[in-house]
Amino acid sequence: MTMLDIRIELTTNPKEKPAPDVLGFGHYFTDHMFVLDYTEGIGWHDGRIVPYQPLSLDPSAMIFHYGQSVFEGLKAYVTVNNEALLFRADRNFKRLNNSNARLCIPEIDEQYALEALKQLVSIDREWIPSTPGTSLYIRPFIIATEPNLGVHPSKNYQFIIIMSPSGSYYKEGINPVKIMVEEQFVRAVKGGTGEAKTGGNYASALKGQQIADKEGYSQTLWLDGKENKYVEEVGSMNIFFKINGTVITPALNGSILPGITRDSMIQVLKSKQIPVEERRISIDEVVEAAHQGTLEEVFGTGTAAVISPVGELKYLDEKIIINNGEIGEVSQMLYDTLTGIQNGKIEDTFGWTIR
Ligand code: PMP
Repeated sequence: MTMLDIRIELTTNPKEKPAPDVLGFGHYFTDHMFVLDYTEGIGWHDGRIVPYQPLSLDPSAMIFHYGQSVFEGLKAYVTVNNEALLFRADRNFKRLNNSNARLCIPEIDEQYALEALKQLVSIDREWIPSTPGTSLYIRPFIIATEPNLGVHPSKNYQFIIIMSPSGSYYKEGINPVKIMVEEQFVRAVKGGTGEAKTGGNYASALKGQQIADKEGYSQTLWLDGKENKYVEEVGSMNIFFKINGTVITPALNGSILPGITRDSMIQVLKSKQIPVEERRISIDEVVEAAHQGTLEEVFGTGTAAVISPVGELKYLDEKIIINNGEIGEVSQMLYDTLTGIQNGKIEDTFGWTIR
């Protein structure tokens, strides 16, 4: 498909844009959205940018019953030179297709999706907030729309992109968070859907998050689903440990979401000659390092916060304080580098930004 295949219907009733200080996350939506339909026998068709609006779906639409859906999360930024940038958006559409493959959803044309997104962002360009730390959060998603209660891959889908101006994740720079190792529930298992970005993974993670919340922790640290021994992810982020000068992150094993921020951090670390390992790491190894005084930094990575340094880790009855609850040197460097590339203050030598 070419750009010409996108029909555009502009709103006649533009909304008032919220002030930067009330944005928060995911509360406000821009004036337009992109929609593409899939019909069995025809394929993806009728790409259009239309005013943001509710969907009308049959109550038997399969999405409501069996959760056949995938989504992505990425951001657009305004640089210090007032240019609009997307960060590694091509990777998000590639990951969307990997999720599609796992959920039996037909593949999308990644190049077409990127062009559609660029067009949508340029139409709603004025919605990208520009105060430091703010950005336009972008949510592409696909839902199964066939009206049918049989359990089978849907014959029809909608691919939709909505966008939400979002505030700074942290009020002032980055703040260490407290996390709790979840012992009873698991997020994903080998052979399951952990490496796909699908709604069910998030629904099943709510319980652990609720327990963590009750105990005063902001995120759940998930262990593997088989032995409850190896570290997987933290909340909606990938996790890194700096032990004795080496940065270690769990290897992608099929049950971990391959974070785009994770991949970017690994590349930045390598470019700075900081030793980085992708391997299996047990929670016992982390606790042992803490006891030995070699656990120097812990941080989560993801699109929303870029970096969330971990100041406290609770496992069984033990509370481990990391780096005196302060932001570590490597965490700060990674945050500054990535946000610098995103806001145009640092030259993008990696080729990650898309104008
Ligand atoms: N793990 C999970 C479960 C997530 O939902 C996310 C957010 N997409 C991440 C990790 C981080 O991925 P990314 O760096 O691509 O945002």
